[in-house]
Amino acid sequence: MSINQSGWRPEMTAGKGDAAPTSTGNRALMLEEALIFEIGSTETTGVDFADGDVAGSRLGDLTRKAPIGLPGLAEPEAVRHYTRLSRQNYAIDLGLFPLGSCTMKHNPRLNEKMARLPGFADVHPLQPVDTVQGALEVIHQLAHWLVTLTGMTSVAMSPKAGAHGELCGILAIKAALEQRGEGGRKVILVPESAHGTNPATAAFAGFQVEDIPATADGRVDTAALVARLGPDVAGVMITNPNTCGLFERDLRTISDAVHAAGGYVYCDGANFNAIVGRVRPGDLGVDAMHINLHKTFSTPHGGGGPGSGPVVFSAALTPFAPLPFVERQDGQFVLVEEENAGEHHAGSFGRMVAFHGQMGMFTRALTYILSHGADGLRQVAEDAVLNANYVLRSLEGTLDAPFAHAGPCMHEAIFSDANLAEGFSTLDVAKGLIDEGFHPMTVYFPLVVHGAMLVEPTETESKAALDQFIGALRSVAERAKAGDASLKSAPHFAPRSRLDETLAARKPVLVWKDAPLAQAAE
Ligand SMILES: *Cc1c(COP(=O)(O)O)cnc(C)c1O
Repeated sequence: MSINQSGWRPEMTAGKGDAAPTSTGNRALMLEEALIFEIGSTETTGVDFADGDVAGSRLGDLTRKAPIGLPGLAEPEAVRHYTRLSRQNYAIDLGLFPLGSCTMKHNPRLNEKMARLPGFADVHPLQPVDTVQGALEVIHQLAHWLVTLTGMTSVAMSPKAGAHGELCGILAIKAALEQRGEGGRKVILVPESAHGTNPATAAFAGFQVEDIPATADGRVDTAALVARLGPDVAGVMITNPNTCGLFERDLRTISDAVHAAGGYVYCDGANFNAIVGRVRPGDLGVDAMHINLHKTFSTPHGGGGPGSGPVVFSAALTPFAPLPFVERQDGQFVLVEEENAGEHHAGSFGRMVAFHGQMGMFTRALTYILSHGADGLRQVAEDAVLNANYVLRSLEGTLDAPFAHAGPCMHEAIFSDANLAEGFSTLDVAKGLIDEGFHPMTVYFPLVVHGAMLVEPTETESKAALDQFIGALRSVAERAKAGDASLKSAPHFAPRSRLDETLAARKPVLVWKDAPLAQAAE
């Protein structure tokens, strides 16, 4: 399979038993769209610039000698090309987006309106602080909310995603251990069900990662974890609620044991959505936790960005948190940027980013928080959990729900492939769901559940929307249980039918073959 061959071929869109393909390959007001590398030309551009005679004069030997060799389109074609491609996407503005672990909720438009105010959108990070007092106040107020909601001591606002926040927390733990002269503690314990970013972060920061098993009810095996504690353990990384959508009821016990053994507790707070306003991680003994503003506090993040992952810290880790901090001094907001500059940041490990973080995200998150208020945020968590339990109880008779016996779930419902017909897999259910109008749920994660299907409906879905989704998933699941062979080649109605995903991942064809390689790489 090659992604850069010209033209549509019938086998690309029509699955077995599907309606006859159209003669053009276009379907129902959707024009088949080729890749830009196939339809663009190096001679075409949507922009007219006069030939500049001074361009490159300051570049000396570095002036480009050959054309850049990228395909271009005239403006109308460029607009249509990308608009057509965008219609092949699914979006939260189109319907329920069940991806587990992602918190794909509705993003209120008010957030966008506030973030676009020129006083926030157009500030420059190097502006004198007395010209950006309003922006600093937004950071300061948001920081106050995050510290209050989590019951922690301080927050570093600059990390730019959840995974970046994990690194921030682990680096603070490392700095704290080094200051104690215990830099030799090299092991971070991570439960089996952890998000992949947890072990990746710990390994990236130079720690050895050791797995802690899960119990039959989907939670961390506390006894196994406590038994592994010792003088070589730097800390643990625990997600709460965890990636099975379950609350880690033993976290306080675990934290006490980790602290007694000289380690620190990192909590992956990506699922804060499920407990905001009801549980304060600080009360559970957490030392550091990132909050994915783009998940819990609602900003558009499908497609990979933007993100923001502030990290809240306990009193024990606050001195080691990164710079900068916004502080209020004599009625003015100031940026504490120098190490040792502030009494609270004596052991700061440095910086995570060049400047202060994602201003647009801060504005959106604070708008969301202020428009909900404290009581509204609590209701966010309650409704997210209610919706997930509605999905769980509606489908547990259809799909195997491995932890349903253990009581209610938190914000996401998990199912397995246990009762599908022989030869049918979670992937078949996911692909069938595309034909039924929905983006698939998260599949094959977490790894502790065989053929996992993880559904996070979020609190912004109505009962009608949930019923529509449940009906679609139920019908696909019934087909997979009955051994309906047509499901094996689904999706049939998507622009492309079932692809060989392994081949696509292992041997992606990413080079525009018409351009000489060296030229394309320039
Ligand atoms: C989303 C997520 C992360 C990573 O957050 P990013 O903002 O995507 O870097 C980490 N852990 C869990 C449990 C998550 O759901």
